[in-house]
Amino acid sequence: MIESYKKFCSGCRACEKLCPTKAIKMEPDYRGFLYPTVDYDKCIKCKKCINSCPINNKENIKEKLAYAAYNKDEKTRINSSSGGIFTLLAENIIEKGGIVFGAAFANDFTVEHILVQDKKDLEKLRTSKYVQSDTKNSYVEAEKFLKQGKLVYYSGTPCQIEGLKAYLQKEYDNLILQDIICHGVPSPRVWKEYLKSKNNKIKKVNFRSKEKTTWDDYQMEITYEGYKEYTKHNDDIFMKLFLENLILRDSCYSCKFKKENRESDLTLADFWGISKIDKSMDDNKGTSLVILNSSKGKKIFEEISNKIIKKEVNFKDAIKNNSSMIESSKKVLEYNYISKLIKENMIYKLFEKEE
Ligand SMILES: Cc1cc2nc3c(=O)[nH]c(=O)nc-3n(C[C@H](O)[C@H](O)[C@H](O)COP(=O)(O)OP(=O)(O)OC[C@H]3O[C@@H](n4cnc5c(N)ncnc54)[C@H](O)[C@@H]3O)c2cc1C
Repeated sequence: MIESYKKFCSGCRACEKLCPTKAIKMEPDYRGFLYPTVDYDKCIKCKKCINSCPINNKENIKEKLAYAAYNKDEKTRINSSSGGIFTLLAENIIEKGGIVFGAAFANDFTVEHILVQDKKDLEKLRTSKYVQSDTKNSYVEAEKFLKQGKLVYYSGTPCQIEGLKAYLQKEYDNLILQDIICHGVPSPRVWKEYLKSKNNKIKKVNFRSKEKTTWDDYQMEITYEGYKEYTKHNDDIFMKLFLENLILRDSCYSCKFKKENRESDLTLADFWGISKIDKSMDDNKGTSLVILNSSKGKKIFEEISNKIIKKEVNFKDAIKNNSSMIESSKKVLEYNYISKLIKENMIYKLFEKEE
């Protein structure tokens, strides 16, 4: 049954939320990634879980437009991972009375999807959190608002977006879907161990700080009571484990959702390589790649146009330096060694060495 899909399962929760007898529960594995488990006493073998699983989605060919873009508001741009385009799109939705879903830190710095209805709360969604975000009950909440006729903007990884589409099982004119180009999502369990190794009480985390440096040389910034700690991204052990593909979810190594033709209305990413295409768009404060996949995507991007600097670029050139658009991350030799450390509760040793 659904458990046999494990290799490609992204943990989106669509099967859990759709099961008519509530026979499916999501449980974490030893790396903290959620997978469906079935209570066969409750299962009526209707196959709704399998038939709706987003890994079975077909790819639809779409006409795409690509842009290099950044927010004219310097403060928001510096406080965002790339060009600060997400904030403008989300503000546009809220100004129209809509609801925005995205990834935020919970009080214990685990990452989960929440909804935001007030511009001042968008700060919670801003910047990339390099840990898999739990979609929790967000698909059900999004559906509730959609049925009430409210405008809904759902932002997430490509697997979360296709998971939501699979859950909804119908098109909504009042839904805007935005995904990202995604390298892969790191283990919630390893993240927990990393946080534990920081002995002081953490107030704030920014994986993509540009405060003291540049966009391409970003730092991990951790705020404690009264002081901040900055670590160059390739000197931080957690970031190294992430960027070297050692702690990603298994499905990220054979991702079904990395493709040119996305199910989303827009795709956001870092525009790595922009200086080779158009130097005038690169001042190293952050440039976004914006890919418009539908007329809804084009319309909302047009609506924020007076708040951004933008240049249209050729789609194929735009994704040349961003292999994660179409290719899964590669499993490297040390992956098994790191997995063994996690299984044996020894991963904390790596973080101890960092001190
Ligand atoms: C795990 C991960 C891997 C990524 N890999 C790449 C990559 O390989 N190449 C690339 O070009 N870009 C990648 N990105 C996207 C990039 O870092 C920026 O998020 C994107 O360019 C938007 O930037 P922004 O400045 O417009 O907005 P920002 O304010 O920086 O982005 C905020 C948006 O990111 C979403 N978000 C944050 N954390 C998560 C999460 N854990 N899960 C789901 N959504 C999240 C929020 O919901 C919000 O919508 C990745 C992002 C994440 C979270």
